Amino acid sequence: MPATPAWPPKSLPRLYLAQALGKDTAVEIDGPQANYLSNVMRLGIGAEVLLFDGHSGEWLARIAEAAKKRMTLSVERQTRAPEAIPDVWLAFAPIKRTQIDWLVEKATELGAARLLPVITHRTIAERVKLDRLRSIAIEAAEQCGRTRLPEIVEPQPLTAFLGALERRLYFADENGGADVAVSFAPPPAAILIGPEGGFTDEERRAVRAHPLATAISLGPRILRAETAALAALATFMATAGDWAHKPG
Ligand code: SAM
Repeated sequence: MPATPAWPPKSLPRLYLAQALGKDTAVEIDGPQANYLSNVMRLGIGAEVLLFDGHSGEWLARIAEAAKKRMTLSVERQTRAPEAIPDVWLAFAPIKRTQIDWLVEKATELGAARLLPVITHRTIAERVKLDRLRSIAIEAAEQCGRTRLPEIVEPQPLTAFLGALERRLYFADENGGADVAVSFAPPPAAILIGPEGGFTDEERRAVRAHPLATAISLGPRILRAETAALAALATFMATAGDWAHKPG
């Protein structure tokens, strides 16, 4: 008996579209997405594509019309319902361009719900290019199978971040804290990572004074900020997020 192929096949191209998708709708694409489907993937009329809009899950669509720089896709059926991303935020002091790009890509793959650049005294990055970071998050979501994008918010000072925070905060403190492997409670939660130069003593005191803050240690070595962010997020997902075993 022939084996039943897994559905949907993993090799189908997967694209994010910033427009609402639904059964029997037609969507037009142009620019880099049309170029990707026709010139990179060499797909023509009748080919299948997976689409998601960040809200309604994932959809199977078929190329109905293909012009040089434009395509029409007809949406046929839903392949996945919207997923429940664990409500965990990653707050980080902006770092240099290559490292921040890497951080955003990997945090999206790991499942962060929201990314929050937080400006501290020793933050060195002059500007945070949110559009660029959002494009990186979209590409990562297309590649890893997420149906929801992480929200990437405007940079804010550490004091404003702490002032508005109403959820558990896990503060990665290279000076020491609770054992990360047993510290995390289920979401909602936020993780805070400092800049390359670390927090000032005053900032450290302010974070530790927050009633919902727990200082956590990520082991005996000093990690680069982006390594620390992803180590903390991965440990969160494994112990309290959606990698953790759910009884039953
Ligand atoms: N300049 C600081 C120093 O030399 O002490 C190191 C800062 S570290 C490069 C950047 C951030 O990563 C820290 O502020 C902290 O949030 C986090 N981090 C790095 N290693 C850590 C560890 N072992 N435990 C907890 N947090 C850590």
